[in-house]
Amino acid sequence: MINVPKAKGLIIANLDLAFQIEEKADRAAELIIANKKLAFQSEEKADRAAELLIANKELAFQNEEKADRAAELLIANKELAYQSEEKADRAAELIIANIELAFQIEEKADRAAELIIANKELTFQNEEKGKRAAELIIANKELTFQNEEKGKRAAELIIANKELAFQNEEKGKRAAELIIANKELIIANKAQGEFLVNISHELKTPLNVIFSTAQLFEMYCKSGSLDDKKDSIIKYIQSMKLNSYRLSKLINNIVDLSKIEAGFFKLSLSNNNIVEVVEEIVMSITALTDSKGLNIIFDTNIEEKIIACDTEKIERIVLNLISNAIKFSNEGDEIFVQIKDKNEFVEISVKDNGIGIEDEYLDMIFDRFKQVDKSLSRNTEGTGVGLSLVKSIVELHGGSIHANSVFGKGSKFTVRLPSKKVLQENMIYNNKMRNGNETIRVELSDIYL
Ligand code: ADP
Repeated sequence: MINVPKAKGLIIANLDLAFQIEEKADRAAELIIANKKLAFQSEEKADRAAELLIANKELAFQNEEKADRAAELLIANKELAYQSEEKADRAAELIIANIELAFQIEEKADRAAELIIANKELTFQNEEKGKRAAELIIANKELTFQNEEKGKRAAELIIANKELAFQNEEKGKRAAELIIANKELIIANKAQGEFLVNISHELKTPLNVIFSTAQLFEMYCKSGSLDDKKDSIIKYIQSMKLNSYRLSKLINNIVDLSKIEAGFFKLSLSNNNIVEVVEEIVMSITALTDSKGLNIIFDTNIEEKIIACDTEKIERIVLNLISNAIKFSNEGDEIFVQIKDKNEFVEISVKDNGIGIEDEYLDMIFDRFKQVDKSLSRNTEGTGVGLSLVKSIVELHGGSIHANSVFGKGSKFTVRLPSKKVLQENMIYNNKMRNGNETIRVELSDIYL
C-alpha cells in the first residue's frame, strides 16, 4: 500500500528538494564565487589580519603601555584624587582660613584704623609730652639752678647760722660775763662806797689830830705856856708825825691804786739778794714788835738768792703782811717770817697765830676795799686796800700770793716770786736806798698807837 498523500507529499518534497538542490548548486556556485571572493577577501583579510595582527600587537603593546600608563594614571589619578581631596580639604581649610583671615584683616584694618587714630593721638600726646618735656627740662634747669642757689644759700645759712650760734654763744658768754661783771661791779661799787666812807674817816682822823694839835700849839704860844708844856708838846709832835705817816700811807695807797688801775704803776727792777732785803725789814721792826709783846722770827733755807725785784715795792709787800700780822695778833703771839728757795721761785711767807680769818672771807681779802667784818677784825685801823695792793705788786713781779688761815688759830700769807734776773738793771732805783725808819713808820703807821 502506498500512502498516496504521503507519496504526493514526498514528490512535492522531492521536487522541492530538487529545486533546493538547484538553488543550492546556484548557491554553491555563488558561494564558490563568493568563496573565491571570500578567499581573496580572506587573503586580503589575512594580509589585513596579519597587518592587523601586527597592528594589533602594536596596539596590544600600546594598549599594554596604555594599560600601564592607565594603571599609572589610575594611581596618579588616585594620587591626584587624593591630592585633590587634600587640596579640596586644604582649599576648604584655606577658605575657612581665608574667611578667618579676611575677618582678621578686617579686624586688623579696623585695628589699624584705630591704631592710626591712636597713633595720631599718641603722636599728638608725644608732641605734647615733647613740649612738656622741653618745658620740664627748662623748669628742671631753672629748678636745678634754684636748687644750686638754695644749696649755696643753705651753705651760707649754715655758715651764717654757725657764726650766729657762735656769736650767740659768745654773746651768752659775754652776757654771763656781764652779769658776773655787773654783780662784781655792784659789789665793787658797794665796797667802793664803803671804802669812801672808810677813807674819809681815815683821812679825817689824822687830819683832825694834826689840826687840833696845831690849835693847841697856837693856844700855848698865845698864852706863853710853851715852855711849861714842853713834855706834852713832844708827845703831841709824835702824834702829829704818826698821823702824818698815816695820811701819807693812805695817800700813797690811793695814788698807787689809781696808778695800777690806769696801768701807770711801773716796777724798777734790779737784781737783789731777796734774803737780805727781807731780813733787813724784819730786823728794822723788831723794836716795834718787842714793844707790842710780840715775837718776830726770821728763818731762811738759803743765805743768798739774787732775783729781779723792785726793793722798795718788796718792802711794802713784806711790811704790809707783817703790819697785818701785828694788827691781828695778841700780846705774846709769834710772827714767823720765812724764806724758802724753791729753785723756780722764792717763797716768802708771813705767819701769825693771831685771830685768823673765816673761810668765807678768805677769798675776798685780796679784793679792793674789802675788809673782813669790822666786828671780827677788831677795831683796827685800815682801809681794805693793803692786800689788794700787795697782790697787784706781786703779780707785777710775775709772782703770786695766797692765804691760809684757821679761824681763831692764825693766818699764813705766802708770796711766790719767780727766780729770774734782769739783764739791764734800773740803776736809778737800784741805788736808791730805803729811807730807813721813815718808810717803816709810814707803812706801819696803822699799828703805832
Ligand atoms: P686793811 O688795811 O683793812 O688791813 P688789808 O687789805 O690789808 O686791809 O686786809 C684786809 C682784811 O683782811 C683785813 O681788814 C682783815 O680783816 C683781814 N686780814 C688781813 N691780814 C690778816 C691777818 N694776818 N689776820 C687776820 N685777818 C687779816
